[in-house]
Amino acid sequence: MSLGLTAPALVASPMPEQLPGTAVGAAPEGSGLPAQVPVSPATPAAPATDGLRFGASGADVKALQRKLRVRGVKVQVNGTYGVRTRAGVRILQRKMHLKATGIADAALLKRLGIKIRAVASAPGAPAAPVVPAGPRYLKVFPVVGEHHYSDDFGDPRGQGAHQGNDIMGSMGLPLVACVDGTISRLTRTETGLGGIWIWLVDARGNEYYYAHMEAIAPGLTAGSKVTAGQALGTMGMSGDARGTAPHLHFEIRPNGGGSINPFTDLRAVDPAK
Ligand SMILES: [Zn+2]
Repeated sequence: MSLGLTAPALVASPMPEQLPGTAVGAAPEGSGLPAQVPVSPATPAAPATDGLRFGASGADVKALQRKLRVRGVKVQVNGTYGVRTRAGVRILQRKMHLKATGIADAALLKRLGIKIRAVASAPGAPAAPVVPAGPRYLKVFPVVGEHHYSDDFGDPRGQGAHQGNDIMGSMGLPLVACVDGTISRLTRTETGLGGIWIWLVDARGNEYYYAHMEAIAPGLTAGSKVTAGQALGTMGMSGDARGTAPHLHFEIRPNGGGSINPFTDLRAVDPAK
């Protein structure tokens, strides 16, 4: 929706671009309310791909720059993937009706007929930033002890598509903070669908939801600061999970917006994987 509208606005201006990290205003911390605008988590920290991107340099970048020029995109052939090359790649991507990421990914390079020799460039040149395929949000797996789960995000449930992953375990298993952050909301009184639940928010405004808990650790209140790995409470089956099997319903909501599938992140920090 709104995501599709923001990109074309940049089309007209050939040059100045925001640097990564300055892109979006941070969500008000501790508001506990969902931000209105869901920000694509993929924007600044793109997942690792085979390809060339801002910061890369060397012969492969030169080859890319030559291809850009052949296609009428004016960039210098200097072997440095800077702001202008990135802007040029975006222009080309729009011409080719591709998503204008500014990253010359493997698919684009293939279409241009460029074979990457080495992404990590010439000696002495700044290396291309390497984005590890690790967790994007989580620091620690939220359940301690024997557990199992599957990629059940989006599965049809009574209330609609499943908004998280259910991590199955046994009654009373310790649940711990998956990031350093602040408890934004919690209830110790069993209410509604989630039963006994906790919302945790990290310094970037990303929210984490723990539902169907048995109990919340003593002393925690809204506003409590917690560190990753700290006990939040125990696994249960409160709320609409009553009478099913004990599990943690776990959600990640980047910037307090819509939930994303937490499965890849969970796998990345799961010690039992
Ligand atoms: Zn669930």
